[in-house]
Order: sequence, then structure tokens, then C-alpha cells
Amino acid sequence: MAQKKTTTDHTAPQTAPWLLDLNPEQRQAVTHAAGHLLVVAGAGSGKTRTLASRVAHLIANGTDPGRILLLTFTRRAAQEMLKRAEACSPAPGAASRVWGGTFHATANRLLRVYAKPAGLSADFTVMDQGDAEDQLNVLRQEQGLHAKEKRFPRKSTCLAVYSRCVNGTEDIAEVLRRHFPWCANWSKELKILFQAYVTRKQERNVLDYDDLLLYWAELLTDSTLARDIGGRFDHILVDEYQDTNSLQARILGGMATGGARIMAVGDDAQSIYSFRAANVRNMLDFPKQFPGTTVVTLSQNYRSITPILATTNALIGQAQERFTKDLWSTRGDGQKPLLVTCKEESDQDRFIVERVLAHREEGIPLREQAVLFRAAHHSASLELELARRNIPYHKYGGLRFLEFGHIKDLIAFLRIVENPRDDMAWFRVLQLLPGVGPGIAARALRHVTEANRDPAALATFTAPASAVPALQGLALLLGEIYRTPALPPATQVERIRTFYDPLLKERYENAGARARDLQTLEQLATGYRSRRNFLSDLQLDPPTSTSELAGVPLLDEDWLVLSTIHSAKGCEWDVVHVMHASDGCLPSDMATGSPAEIEEELRLTYVAMTRARNFLYVEWPMRYYHTWHRHTDRHIYAQLSRFFSDAVRGTMQEAQSGADGSEDPAASDATARPIADRIRSRWA
Ligand code: ATP
Ligand code: MG
Repeated sequence: MAQKKTTTDHTAPQTAPWLLDLNPEQRQAVTHAAGHLLVVAGAGSGKTRTLASRVAHLIANGTDPGRILLLTFTRRAAQEMLKRAEACSPAPGAASRVWGGTFHATANRLLRVYAKPAGLSADFTVMDQGDAEDQLNVLRQEQGLHAKEKRFPRKSTCLAVYSRCVNGTEDIAEVLRRHFPWCANWSKELKILFQAYVTRKQERNVLDYDDLLLYWAELLTDSTLARDIGGRFDHILVDEYQDTNSLQARILGGMATGGARIMAVGDDAQSIYSFRAANVRNMLDFPKQFPGTTVVTLSQNYRSITPILATTNALIGQAQERFTKDLWSTRGDGQKPLLVTCKEESDQDRFIVERVLAHREEGIPLREQAVLFRAAHHSASLELELARRNIPYHKYGGLRFLEFGHIKDLIAFLRIVENPRDDMAWFRVLQLLPGVGPGIAARALRHVTEANRDPAALATFTAPASAVPALQGLALLLGEIYRTPALPPATQVERIRTFYDPLLKERYENAGARARDLQTLEQLATGYRSRRNFLSDLQLDPPTSTSELAGVPLLDEDWLVLSTIHSAKGCEWDVVHVMHASDGCLPSDMATGSPAEIEEELRLTYVAMTRARNFLYVEWPMRYYHTWHRHTDRHIYAQLSRFFSDAVRGTMQEAQSGADGSEDPAASDATARPIADRIRSRWA
């Protein structure tokens, strides 16, 4: 990477609060005065802190906060950084005017403004992944592809192929060859299917998640529009740049030609989203893409004590390809990371709970302690143990909030009134009604279409007697909300809930809990003045933890953090447990197909372990319960994760839980086969 001498602006006093405690390289990045900037550095070296300080610095030096765009991986991350920036900003309240959020949420916001040149209408609605798959399925059937002699790819595969093509900016032949070789023969048909998919979405004024980025990128290919859109911002700052995809890089390129200056920070050793077409080359090629870039590297780690750093350096030292250098820390000495072999899964749970409680006794609150795992279901038995011991916890990741049927139902009502052309939402809602199946739903929709898509027109649809009362009720509800745009979003949700409640009870088990979720959504809606914004936030930044769904916690509440590793990105805790560190779980047996996949699992392990400040525990059970499918499950004998080589173990202390070295004969099935064989052989 070409390095360029930095120009530093000295207008801010050296003692400015946002510069306090920064090392010279961080300070260089924060005060960088001209051109684009890339900060490449390892975990815990202060990249995110540098970004937050830069926001404060820019504002203090006269940049209009409304002309700063801060792109992060989640809304929560953006909010936390802006809180940090606000804390040291000289202008109270200024940081709240910064545009902060994910690429998708920002795209959504910009596309509302630039809907016309994008060929959209500003009231477009967004389809979630399930709807996008269903839409593809409808088209697949319309084209007769489902009835082919050789099985045509499933709807989810079709969407995955489409998404790869769009996000990775690769053509379909290449995507099929590299990622879906078993579908290679369907290239022609898939192309036709995707053509129909795009046309249908445009006719219906709906976008899928990928479209948000795609339309943004396409707008920027027009130089006048690029000047206008990019010209809205003086500075664009991007965190976790290693996990962006080619389309996002293209967007940044377009924004830069419009005048915005780009600052990106990232760590190639933490790139963990290639399954979503993220491409670490974006980061490495940044200086080429943005000529005149200054590259800053950081090598001091401020997060972890030295023994933890020794272990994480040794772990990532096994990576085949790596650009960032080893880190050093002055945080001092402490307990070596503990590698704990547990006899059973229950021993793993017990060990974790006991350590958590012991650390709490020492004064480390639960909230400063986290248990991390590869897959959301890995924490199932630990959660039972925590409940049994009355230890409160919040779980991040794996909460497929938008996939819950009742949430999707409620969103579908809102989508109809937002955009009555949204067919998939109509189909969903109509088929909730008693007496309405796909046939009647299609006819009802045709009727509404002929009446210019006015939802109230449903009242004049001639339906079988059994469906009439419900259809009339729906016509009344949607008609009223549609015609009264000034109705506060929370009131709209309340009316929908009242109508939907009896349907919910008929359709779902545990209707009580689901009804409470919807009440929570209504409460969430009270924070919004516009239905459109409420809907967008709900769909693009859904609650990420059980706590977010449960509402604002009480100040004195304390809880243990459970999180998937993917959702722990960028976070840190005093105490970190990485559980289920056995082969099959970490690396996941779903991701050991190629060396590249295994390498990504290694980086994932690195992300997990580098979250720890003072105490790191890695646990693995020698035997655990594995659910294969709905009907089969069994105990698995595990091996320690392959990533814990001798070199890594050499930096750790080892311990055992639940094992005294001897086998528990009652739990062992080592003798089961000979006995079974003997009993059978009697009759041979
Ligand atoms: P990751 O790669 O995991 O996202 P990061 O590089 O973004 O990490 P930060 O989260 O910004 O690192 O910083 C890690 C910790 O180090 C934070 O607690 C931060 O406040 C602290 N830190 C960063 N820079 C300094 C500094 N110059 N002096 C003291 N503490 C610092
Ligand atoms: Mg960070």
C-alpha cells in the first residue's frame, strides 16, 4: 500500500478532549486534514475510538454535523459511537445530527429523497428475505420452472444466487461456477427468472434488501446525481470495512466522486462475512480505489492484558493470509487464558456459571461478562442452567425477530397501507382471514387492483358468505388507516392489533406471548411520528437482542451477556467465555468445505477471543448433545477445536471441569456394542 505524508491541521488545541489519551498514530488519523484515509489495524487497537474522536474533531473544526455520514454494521454501533463523540464534543447535541447507521438504512433514507430518478415512488416498501423467496417462487411457478424434469433450484437457493450476483458484482455464470456448481446448468433459466423478479418488484414498487444498495449504486453512476448525492456529505466514515462487499465499495467510490472524503477502518484478520459476499480485498485495494489515500496503521492494543494478547497473537498467527501485524499491549500481566476441558456439556455450563458468579463476587458486574458461541443454539443448555440459578441474561444474535409469523403479519398490514401495490403483503394479510385461501385472495387482489389499489375497495368484492364479515372488517380497517395518514403510527398499530388479535389466537400456539410482542411493537411505535420511518427501522434495523425487544431495562438491572460471535463484533467485556470450542462447533461443521471457509472460522475464533479485557476462558465439552434434524438427535464425542495448536495451548493454562480422569461407567456407552453383539449372537 502506498503511504503518503499526512497533512495535519493544527487548528484544534492539542489538549482538546477528543485528542486526550490518543497515541500519535491515532491522533494523526483523527486530525487528518486532506484526502481519503484508511486505518488498518488489529483488534482492540482503537479503530472505533479513533472514528468517534474524528467525528468530535470534525464538528469542533466547523464541519456541519448533518454533512457527516457514519456507516457501521448495526444501528446500535452507530448510536454508541455517536454517544462517545457527543461526550467529548464541544457542541452539545451536535452529534445527534450526524447521519449514522448501516449501509442499508442509509440507502433507504436516500432513496426516499431520490426515488424519482431511481424510477421508484417514494412510498416503496421493503420485502424481507422470506417474501423475496416467496416472490421468486411465484414467478418460478408462473414460468413452469418448478415442473421441470430435473429439479430446479429451490427458492432459497435462487435468492442466494441472485444476492451473490448483485452484492459481489459478479456475473451469474461466475457465481454459479464458484459458489453453486450444482446449479450451473440452470444459468439461462435463472437469468430469465431474475429478469421477471426485477420487473415484478418494479411494477409493485417494492425493493428487497439487496435492491437498497443496488439502486443507491446505480444512482451514483450518473455524474450529476453523484455530485448531488455525494455532495450532501463532506465526510463519510466507515467502521468494520473488512466486512463490506464490492457493491458497498462501489457506492463509496460514487460518493467520493461527488465530493465526500472517505475514512475507512478495518482489520483483515476479523473478516467474517464472506458468506454475505463481503470481500476483504475492498480494504486492501482501498488506496488504489481512492487515489491519494493516507494509510495509518496502529499496533498498540489497549483492550487486553498481555497474556491474552499472547494467546490471540498465536491463534491468528496460524492464518495463511494476513496483512495486519501482531499487536503489543502495555496493559500488564494477569491470569493466563484458561483452556477448560469439560467432561459433559453440563460440566461446561456449571463451570461457566460458577466463574461468572465468582467474578461478580469480585465486583465485576454481570454486564461486563459475556459468553460467546458460534451458533445461536449452542447456548440452549447454558440458558436452562442460568434460568435454574436465577441469573438474568440477555442474548444477542440468532433472534430471528423478523421471521416470527406474528411480526411478519403485523408488518404486512403496515406495508399495505404504505404501498397498496405490495402484492406479497396483500397475500399474507388476506390469507389470514377465515374462509380466504389463495384463490379468493388472488381474486380479491384483482378487484382491488381494478379499483386503483384503494384498500377500501375490498368492501365491494363479492366473496363467499363465510369470508364476507372478515373481508368487510379488513376493508374498514385498511381504508381508515390509508385515508388518515396523520394517524400516529402507534395508533395505527393499535387498530391493527385489535383487528388481528382474534386471528392470532386462532393461528398460533402461545398466542399470549406473541400478543405481548405486538404490544411491545406498539410501544416502540410511540417513538415515531412517521409510519414510514417506523417500518424502515423495524425492517432494516430489527431488535438484535431479547432485551431490545423487552423494552428499556431498569438502570439498576444487571444481566449476563450471551452472544453469537458474529453479533459480538466490535464489542468488549472484562470477562469473556468462548464455549463449545470443539471441532464441529468451532469450526462449524457447516463451514469446513474449503480451506477458505476454515480460514474464516479461524478469524471468527480470533474475533471471539479478542473481545476479552482481563479474563478469557475457552471451554469445550468432550461430549455433548446434538440435534441433527427434528426427529433424530444423539450425543457426540468431541475433539478440541483444531485451532488450538500446541503453540496456542502453550500460551494458555489448562484445566478440567467435571472430570476426575475416570470415566463414569453409567454414562459410558463404550461397552454397549459388545453386550448388544453378545445378546444378538445368541440367536445367530
Ligand atoms: P475491534 O477491532 O475489536 O473493533 P477497535 O480497534 O475498534 O477494536 P476500540 O474498540 O476502539 O478498538 O478500542 C478498544 C479499547 O481500547 C476501548 O476500550 C478503547 O476505549 C480503548 N482505547 C483505544 N485507544 C486508547 C488510547 N489511546 N488510550 C486508552 N485507551 C484506548
Ligand atoms: Mg472496532
